[in-house]
Amino acid sequence: MAENQLGGQQYLILPEGASRLIGKEAQRTNIAVGYAVSSIVRTTLGPKGMDKMLVSELGDIIITNDGATILQEMNVEHPIAKIMVEIAKTQDKEVGDGTTSAVIIAGEMLKNAGGLLDQGIPPAAIIKGFEMARTKAAEVLNSIAGKVDLEDEDKLQKIAMISMGSKNIGSAETKKMLAKLALQAIKQVSIKDGGKVTIDRDFIKLEKKEGSSIEETSFINGVLIDKEVTHPGMPKSIKNAKIALLDVALEIEKTETDARIEITSPDQMQAFLAQEEKMLKNMADKISKSGATVIFVQKGIDDVAQHYLSKAGIMAVRRAKKSDMEKLAKATGARLVTSLDDLTQADLGFAGLVDERKISGEQMVFVEKCKDPKSVTIFIRGGAKQTVDEVERAITDALGALASAVESGRYVTGGGSTEIEVASKIRDYATDVGGREQLAIQAFADALEVIPKTLADSAGMDAIDTLVSLRTKHKSASGKSYGIDVYTNSIADMEKPGVIEPLKVKLQALSSATEAIAAILRIDDMISSKGRGGGGGGPGGMGGMGGMPPGHED
Ligand code: ADP
Ligand code: MG
Repeated sequence: MAENQLGGQQYLILPEGASRLIGKEAQRTNIAVGYAVSSIVRTTLGPKGMDKMLVSELGDIIITNDGATILQEMNVEHPIAKIMVEIAKTQDKEVGDGTTSAVIIAGEMLKNAGGLLDQGIPPAAIIKGFEMARTKAAEVLNSIAGKVDLEDEDKLQKIAMISMGSKNIGSAETKKMLAKLALQAIKQVSIKDGGKVTIDRDFIKLEKKEGSSIEETSFINGVLIDKEVTHPGMPKSIKNAKIALLDVALEIEKTETDARIEITSPDQMQAFLAQEEKMLKNMADKISKSGATVIFVQKGIDDVAQHYLSKAGIMAVRRAKKSDMEKLAKATGARLVTSLDDLTQADLGFAGLVDERKISGEQMVFVEKCKDPKSVTIFIRGGAKQTVDEVERAITDALGALASAVESGRYVTGGGSTEIEVASKIRDYATDVGGREQLAIQAFADALEVIPKTLADSAGMDAIDTLVSLRTKHKSASGKSYGIDVYTNSIADMEKPGVIEPLKVKLQALSSATEAIAAILRIDDMISSKGRGGGGGGPGGMGGMGGMPPGHED
């Protein structure tokens, strides 16, 4: 009777077709969903990982190995799946690399948490244990990390290579070349302030055009603008350019109100047009007088103004993007001007060359040879669209990894070596802690080992045997950096083949994974009012499930 009553009440408060999962049922479903998401990207991990082909609703094809891209393009529906995708997004945004690892570790943490729930350990104890383990892991990571700085080209080159390692973008030579370009870009935009280096990756523009080979990818010491010179009569190439950036419309502003001008004679018409022309000529004169030889205009340029500008030998690009204007300012030292009356020589920037070139049938404007620009471009080329896109993702990873390495100045070894080392230290710590948390801390350690396990799998090695030998190696002090050399199918000191990664990438992966898993484990009630008819199976079914008094299930 009581059960029916409760069921009836739920029926009253939830809309028809809504579904609800409570307690263990909700937890089990959530864990299964989260784990399923991580399983999808698992096979892409590492240089021997596989690619995935994604076909969008519109039929666009993406071939990639990039965890974040795969998850984003899948358009997952389930809210828990969305949280898992969010882990990859956060990782991508914060450090630019390590997305797959973060999601795989999170999936494994969920699976292990499921085991603990089955043993009757309450979610709060699991979450507490995971958070303690995360703190300890950060401590261990910091203690084993080596130093790296902006001058350490050899190490940085390796870090860039490893971060691109799993992308299918051609030979080792090609990757080396791309790594060099990425490093050059990072060095150029880095800002040193005392002992601290900061890098704003937004000021490394990635511009791409298919129709050539990857080897043609190049570094531009300035900004590449995907626009053409506005008027055919204007110069197409200007050396030692003086650049003005104008957030001004070089047009006669149409009046807002519906004004009417009464023209009664041809003379008046003539005078009216002459007046307009004079105003436009005036604008061109002001620009010319400032000494500018190249202008980038955020708004439009009237035909008459174009005519006068070309007569004055000025190159102009109109409707430039706001983001490009900011980059041009950083690259050339020009100041964005919002009124022509304010334009003076002091506002002008400099570029050794501004040049319009035809690239695969389209005009582009190269603003290059800038003086110590704080904004640069990598111009990505490749045969097909899929290729340029994957090269872009590879370079994005490399830039992220390099920026992370340089900013924190620390690196650790890869190939699963760091995960094994941290796991073993965490296990020791778990015994010290004891109690219910001990089990959760151990489960966290086990979850980390999914990385070496997966790398061994992808290389065709026996995962269990490899893990056992690695654990033994790590018992000795000299074995700290032993991991999996996927190219020789053996365990080796990862410093030797130069498999190194930024510390920050590993730290970020553990914190975003732990936070997301804690959020998922705290949920014990999933109410969906999306009205699918599925899930809860209608009010009757829900009544049955919801009829349990709260707290009964634990
Ligand atoms: P993520 O999105 O997590 O960066 P990746 O597919 O880039 O995924 O794989 C990263 C993993 O592959 C790291 O654990 C890294 O140490 C490992 N890895 C990369 N290159 C090598 C290599 N040459 N040998 C062994 N492991 C490698
Ligand atoms: Mg990577």
